[in-house]
Amino acid sequence: GSTRVPSKAEESGGRGLETGAAVWVSNPSQVWTAGEVTQSTSSHVVVKLVSADSPEDDLEDLEVPHTGGKVRLLRRDTTIVDAAALQYDDLTNVPELHEAALLQAIADRFQRGRIYTLTGPVLLAVNPFRHMPGLYSPEMLRSFVSAEKLQPHIFSIANRAYQGILDHDESQTVLVSGESGAGKTETTKFVMHFLALTGAEAVVSEGEKPLSRVERQVLRSNPLLEAFGNAQTLRNHNSSRFGKYIELQFGFDDGLAGSKKRLIGTRIRTYLLETVRVIDHQPGERSFHIFYQALQAASAHLPELDGVVREHLGKIEGISCFKNLGDSKCSELLDDTGDFQATLAAMQTMGFHAHEVADVLRAVLAVLHVGNIEFTVPAKNSEASEVLPSTGASDDLKAPLDEASELLGLSGAQLAEVLCYRTMQAPGEQVIRMGNTTKQAAECRDALGRYLYHALFKHIVEKTNASIGFKPEATFCGVLDIFGFEFFKVNSFEQLCINFTNELLQQYFNNFIFENETILYQEEGVPWQDEDFPDNAGIVKLLQSSPSGIFPMLDEECFVIGGTSGSWHRKLIQTHQNHPSFGVVKLQNSTFIVKHFAGPVTYTVDGFLEKNRDRLSQDLVRCLAGSDWPFVRNCFKDSAENSVSRSPSIRGSPLSSNSPKVRAHRSTVSSEFRQQLQDLMGQIRTTTPHFVRCIKPNAENRAFVDAAVPDPRPLFDRSSVAEQLSYQGVLEAIRVARAGYPVRYYHFDFLAAFRCIACKDVQLEMEAAMRKFQESCADSFLVESIRRLLESEPLRSACENAVAVGRTRV
Ligand code: ATP
Ligand code: MG
Repeated sequence: GSTRVPSKAEESGGRGLETGAAVWVSNPSQVWTAGEVTQSTSSHVVVKLVSADSPEDDLEDLEVPHTGGKVRLLRRDTTIVDAAALQYDDLTNVPELHEAALLQAIADRFQRGRIYTLTGPVLLAVNPFRHMPGLYSPEMLRSFVSAEKLQPHIFSIANRAYQGILDHDESQTVLVSGESGAGKTETTKFVMHFLALTGAEAVVSEGEKPLSRVERQVLRSNPLLEAFGNAQTLRNHNSSRFGKYIELQFGFDDGLAGSKKRLIGTRIRTYLLETVRVIDHQPGERSFHIFYQALQAASAHLPELDGVVREHLGKIEGISCFKNLGDSKCSELLDDTGDFQATLAAMQTMGFHAHEVADVLRAVLAVLHVGNIEFTVPAKNSEASEVLPSTGASDDLKAPLDEASELLGLSGAQLAEVLCYRTMQAPGEQVIRMGNTTKQAAECRDALGRYLYHALFKHIVEKTNASIGFKPEATFCGVLDIFGFEFFKVNSFEQLCINFTNELLQQYFNNFIFENETILYQEEGVPWQDEDFPDNAGIVKLLQSSPSGIFPMLDEECFVIGGTSGSWHRKLIQTHQNHPSFGVVKLQNSTFIVKHFAGPVTYTVDGFLEKNRDRLSQDLVRCLAGSDWPFVRNCFKDSAENSVSRSPSIRGSPLSSNSPKVRAHRSTVSSEFRQQLQDLMGQIRTTTPHFVRCIKPNAENRAFVDAAVPDPRPLFDRSSVAEQLSYQGVLEAIRVARAGYPVRYYHFDFLAAFRCIACKDVQLEMEAAMRKFQESCADSFLVESIRRLLESEPLRSACENAVAVGRTRV
């Protein structure tokens, strides 16, 4: 239990700050700088900044009016800065926790190699970008098994989830968030590692017990998914280009030894694979790992491979043969050859037979060869196109069309026909054949490449799921590894989908924090009002509510005859121009702004409609559904059965593995994705959540160094970290807490700090109560003492006054 005394120094000017008070001063580069009040008047305070590096330096004095203005002041608790911050395993125990104290504590801890910090139930993890010796060792893992108290470590979170399953038979979810490169996927793997090993008792008993089939498969599923779903980007050399939710099921396995529940089944769901990466990527980035792995390493495995694949792979001279791979290379940061071994081993563990592995590689090659097909304008008709006969590549290689069609199990003529022509049904049942322009033909080709790759990815996930197995009913721990909030120079449909996801997760997080606070207050009998509770429900509604939300309006426009991104944009402005979370930029005609909880994002409307519609030509679908190769036939069978077929393309596309077989007639990328999200949130709401916020300490991915190596660039970029804390809702969570009672002392610490103001005999009584507490941990004596202290004059009136100040956040 704790006593709460409202804060005097709140987030404005310096009112209430006395001369000599230690403060944090807001500042653009350092975010918060330490300072000291040297003068306090009725209208302002003067603050002298303290340089952390050289305290003797005379920094300039700042005059801060009580009204605050641009500069914000927060009281600085000198007992928690620097090394002392380490004593707080849970930062909510810091008496007065605010933005500045939080940032400083995380920085101090990180500088000492403590990458994990707890703020209440939320674990913050700062990416060290290098191996931290011993941090995830078997001994470390063992030390967390069954530990009661939550510790700042990912294993502790995993253990808490596991205990929830064992003790209460309640399903759990670990929600991991953070920007690209912050460490979400690595964190997810640590959780899976803990859950697989702890359940197996491999580390808790004498002598290592082997992992079960399921446990082995679950751990091996990671390299497999990463080979097909990850790529090197400018921000992360192993960036996940899809979101995932993995449900790890626990139960007693009759066939296996052990009295504890262990992993018995798993289901992987994936979201928004960025298939546009198959076609193109930014300079300095790469396409999906598997392309490079296959091209680099497959030759070593040629003898083991199936005929068609062997023949095709044998002819390839390198990555540069393929247009879709551009000038990307095998990376120094990745070991494509070694990783290919891991991919093959993982496929084997998942029960892929040799011919199935060959199918997968054949599909990978087919995607690449399709990408090489080029078109030209026929002599007589500038409105049509034909396949360019040869690109003049190596002699061994046939023309791209022949390579691609052979791999796809079609004839060259068949493939050329569906790329260069389209058919339409005229009213009288008459079928009209029309030529595609070279641009349309190229779009058709790219849609095919994307669709095929997505189908392949879906196949890998389905096969993995089928091979591990999933029980219809079992308690599970879900692990969510999904892209964080995104805003680039130009933001499009993909960012809107991603940011919408984050908006929903944020809403869930807010509710959770709020509920936790409410329970705490109820337990301690402290009154509280919820009007200050931060809420993003308005933005969620703006995005999704039917019929006038941004997404429903987009869907509607996709089915309006003659609808365009521009007409949708005009309707958006008409409907929402007065919405507090919506905005437009003057002089930028094709943009709109959504004021997300994490900050405003400007979206450019070009391409929204096409990306949301994302159609694959019916002629193409029918043609591929008739392929000689069963693998491709299966990929296109479902789409051919549906009148509306869409390529599961771009990042903005859900996997149909999770969606019903028969698609709704008016389905769009966004409507399917929103349905998936709704299912996901529904599922998560049935579980007990655990939140992990991953933080990227610097944009260059520079590794943690123990000693202060001279380097002008900070390892821990304070302003970037502060920004991440803000848009991951960590600051918001603290604000929720502060909206109620911003200063929290343990009863004992409170008495120790304030008993001096009581009169002598009350002080003696208090000391007796404190001794009793130390002997027996009986809090009731302390509570009684505090009550007496608070009731004594003149403290009572001072406290009442302070309560009022804290409430209104003056
Ligand atoms: P994306 O959104 O791009 O997928 P991510 O948040 O999943 O990014 P990760 O791939 O998990 O980021 O991490 C990026 C890199 O950071 C890893 O490849 C690894 O080198 C390093 N890393 C992350 N977490 C840790 C950790 N706890 N200890 C050591 N290194 C780590
Ligand atoms: Mg990742």
